[in-house]
Amino acid sequence: MIRREFLGLMGATLLGSIAQADELKHPDIWLKDEQKVVFDAVMKKLGMVERMVGYAKFNLISFDDTLKIARNYSKIGAFTPTEIAYIEEVFYTDPVIYGFYGKRTVEQLSYVVNEKDVVKVDGSGHYVYKETSQELLNRLIKDIGPTLILTSGVRSVVKQLSLHMEKIKSEKGNITIASRSLVPPAYSYHTVGDFDVGKKGWGAQNFTSNFARTEEFWNLQKLSYISMRYTIGNGDGVRFEPWHVKIV
Ligand SMILES: [Zn+2]
Repeated sequence: MIRREFLGLMGATLLGSIAQADELKHPDIWLKDEQKVVFDAVMKKLGMVERMVGYAKFNLISFDDTLKIARNYSKIGAFTPTEIAYIEEVFYTDPVIYGFYGKRTVEQLSYVVNEKDVVKVDGSGHYVYKETSQELLNRLIKDIGPTLILTSGVRSVVKQLSLHMEKIKSEKGNITIASRSLVPPAYSYHTVGDFDVGKKGWGAQNFTSNFARTEEFWNLQKLSYISMRYTIGNGDGVRFEPWHVKIV
């Protein structure tokens, strides 16, 4: 791998003008007022399902199991047709309208992560796919040391939906901004193999550009056998993510 590719360095001026052109082509899209009730209802139910199955297991949960759990527990209550329609809309909308150009990684909302294909990583609350991802993670930890940790592994469609919606909420309804950091549920490479790494004890800082200043990141860079998914100025329109390791 070429070092330049890893960092994805481009001239700041060029980057600035690309971003500007993109903003003109894609004015920010916001959650509509009439969507807010259903948005909040879906988020609340997803949160309750997550509490029911636990943080780790929620990373793997399928859409069908989510519906079933909600239906079977009266405290949660079945997802209504309007709520299901909203989820389908989020899943099937082409995010090019949000300035996101990444490839679709999952075709079906009902896509199932097979539990026999994944392995839980001790102490992380996360899973990685056996073999490819697992071997690479182990090799990284061996080469960098125990301060390198897994911060996010396999994410089912529902987990990605939940993270995407939380991001929309924290961006106060700005779907465009949200889609460039927490990509929509059919577009995450986490669902098919990629994972995130961080520095032990760094918490949320691991998901900021500050991670690029850590010794762990600089040591990662020296390794010839890995590359990053979202480099500076990546063609997908995603923010620079120095923590996201490309697998597939
Ligand atoms: Zn990631």
